[in-house]
Amino acid sequence: MSNRSIEWALNEAYTLMREHYGHQHWWPGETAFEVCVGAVLTQNTNWGNVERAIHNLKAAGVLSPVALYGLPLDRLSALIRPAGYFNVKAVRLRNFLRLVVEECGGSLESLFAGGTCDARTRLLAISGIGPETADSMLLYAGHHASFVVDAYTRRIFHRHGWCPEEISYEGLQELCAGHLRIPPNGDLLDYWQDYHAQLVSVGKDHCRSRQPRCDQCPLRPLLHGKKSGIASSRGLC
Ligand code: SF4
Repeated sequence: MSNRSIEWALNEAYTLMREHYGHQHWWPGETAFEVCVGAVLTQNTNWGNVERAIHNLKAAGVLSPVALYGLPLDRLSALIRPAGYFNVKAVRLRNFLRLVVEECGGSLESLFAGGTCDARTRLLAISGIGPETADSMLLYAGHHASFVVDAYTRRIFHRHGWCPEEISYEGLQELCAGHLRIPPNGDLLDYWQDYHAQLVSVGKDHCRSRQPRCDQCPLRPLLHGKKSGIASSRGLC
């Protein structure tokens, strides 16, 4: 597809998803700090499990940078147990909290200060924080225009012929950022926040790894023109 065709398709995709789902108002979380904690906890699990872990942290009165950093590691692990991989995630949270508390004075404003590249570099230097987690924090907690890419994005884009299957995280992020520059309401941050949320909904509801449910999918109109051989070989409609 030409660049213009991809640009049209990506923006049209948002129109279709938005009409189907409405604005998603992501990310779920009452504070920027809760968003950051959720971004770590949601690695390799579903959001329901994250909610249970965050509920535990709130009930224990420790959902703040200083209080959470002050917890013994085994206590932190126990509280976030519902999120799965709790020992690994407790260490990752501690690594994140160390930066926030010891180097940023407990302030998320300091954590996200400066340009997007600077803030992203700061986050990616934390052991256990990869690009998807860092970009989720930047986009939804730090209000930086840093497009979030995940497995759903890659699957949906590849199935529609908008990107090659083996594209890198940064390559796909660049493709999205480069073609989604004209937000419908003029608010780029809102556009990118909601765009990722819409893709997650499509991925969960329709674009399963096996047997995608194209019939009821809002992106079905954009499957037309896709090479039929590829589509049929993957069980697409
Ligand atoms: S389910 Fe089908 S129509 Fe929907 S995004 Fe996936 S491939 Fe496209």
